[in-house]
Amino acid sequence: RAKQDGRGIYRFFTPEMQARSGRHLELVNALRYALERNQLHVVYQPQMSLITGKIIGSEALLRWTHPELGSISPAEFIPVAEETGLILAIGEWVLRSAVSQTKAWHEQGWADLSIAVNLSAIQFRHTDLPGTVSRILQESQLAATYLELELTEGVAMIDPPGAIAIMNDLHLRGVRMSIDDFGTGYSSLSYLKKFKVSKLKIDQSFVRDINSDPEDKAIVSAVISMAKSLGLQTIAEGVETEEQLTFLHQQHCDEVQGYYFARPLAPVQFAQFMLDNKNLVSKANADVTSSL
Ligand code: C2E
Ligand code: MG
Ligand code: MG
Ligand code: MG
Repeated sequence: RAKQDGRGIYRFFTPEMQARSGRHLELVNALRYALERNQLHVVYQPQMSLITGKIIGSEALLRWTHPELGSISPAEFIPVAEETGLILAIGEWVLRSAVSQTKAWHEQGWADLSIAVNLSAIQFRHTDLPGTVSRILQESQLAATYLELELTEGVAMIDPPGAIAIMNDLHLRGVRMSIDDFGTGYSSLSYLKKFKVSKLKIDQSFVRDINSDPEDKAIVSAVISMAKSLGLQTIAEGVETEEQLTFLHQQHCDEVQGYYFARPLAPVQFAQFMLDNKNLVSKANADVTSSL
């Protein structure tokens, strides 16, 4: 229903929109206290190498459980964190948690686990990102080579010269970078040449119907072969079935991540997963080889 206000401007308010803005305000207010009230935690989703069949590490994914609102998806609250600037504090906290957890796993004997951490464009533009990253690695005594920062195409496109300088700096410090959700953004492919990324994460929207949709098939094989010729690694996200895994293996995708292997896990569950799957990994291999 349109309502005319005094100045001849039509305003549209549906009940859903009012509810949404009410919810939005609620989230803005609640998120301010989420960190100090210990409502945030990080879960870890295993990543597998299709070359060695080993668990190579995990991706850190943020979770928010509010006492009244329940569990809120990062797809909903990360944008709120970005627009309020809270993403700087929260993002640094995620990085610190993930790095120190990974160091703890190293000390428990899983000494070659990597950790991939999602970065928001806003953190990336924060001038001291390389310094912050180095300081956090230093605090935990984790070597930079175990850290991978996941950037979206948008991060790099906001300010290409600035992005190149920051990426060069991070690269010199030994930190690896990957492009998350690859293929869903609006960027030009030429940045792959200029940016110091080492890996492309093939978005799950291309993986989902990989076994039934010829176009998704074509896109995924094209991305993998382009990455190969540029000397970049590939990881496919959202792998849920053995058929998807087999196709990705045949196309020489380097790594996979998805519910087929594991959901994002709390640290204790992740450690249990490592213990249980000294051979899930060989099972993954066996699945792959038996279906070839
Ligand atoms: P993303 O980085 O692309 O993460 C992958 C998402 O896919 C995660 O959703 C993960 O739980 C989900 N996923 C993994 N395997 C499967 C699968 O087999 N099937 C399906 N259907 N989904 C799968 P999640 O955890 O809800 O995170 C959503 C997005 O929120 C992330 O997408 C990322 O963009 C953002 N996000 C999460 N944590 C952080 C963070 O610490 N910082 C920032 N800046 N963004 C974050
Ligand atoms: Mg990611
Ligand atoms: Mg992704
Ligand atoms: Mg995604």
